[in-house]
Amino acid sequence: MPNGDTHTAINLGALLGLGGVYLALGLPWTPPASALVGGYLFGTLFLTPDLDLGHRARVRARRNWGALSALWLPLGILVKHRGVIHTWGRGPALLLLYFVVVFGGVLALALFGLQAAGVTFPPTWNVRLTPQAFWWLALPGYLLAYWIHLWLDDYRPWRWREW
Ligand SMILES: [Zn+2]
Repeated sequence: MPNGDTHTAINLGALLGLGGVYLALGLPWTPPASALVGGYLFGTLFLTPDLDLGHRARVRARRNWGALSALWLPLGILVKHRGVIHTWGRGPALLLLYFVVVFGGVLALALFGLQAAGVTFPPTWNVRLTPQAFWWLALPGYLLAYWIHLWLDDYRPWRWREW
């Protein structure tokens, strides 16, 4: 099993290779392609299976969250390293769920607090946050990055227990 920096380097290298082929084929760079790459980068730099290490080790992906990195520590108490988070299906789903619930909760509390303190938000925010259909392509990008990590950790998709 490679260490965190090797994981990151291999994932980024694969992205450069695939992106190079894509551009060499003369394919146009479109918003859906950006969504795919965005999801992939997110899954490489911010949402990786090794966040299940929690407090047990320094994890690059956790440190990448900066001031919010502590929000990942409880995950290491809830699950064991290379347990359910290191699986092909449940892993990426549960990690995403944890992210949405914990970070979404903190964001909602912060916005609620700011609003209660009398801060008003510009109405243009609502327009910018309207989801576009192609954003869903970030999901396969995230999964691809996640699965490359698992593969390098010696997990194999044909072992049904590892789903
Ligand atoms: Zn791992």
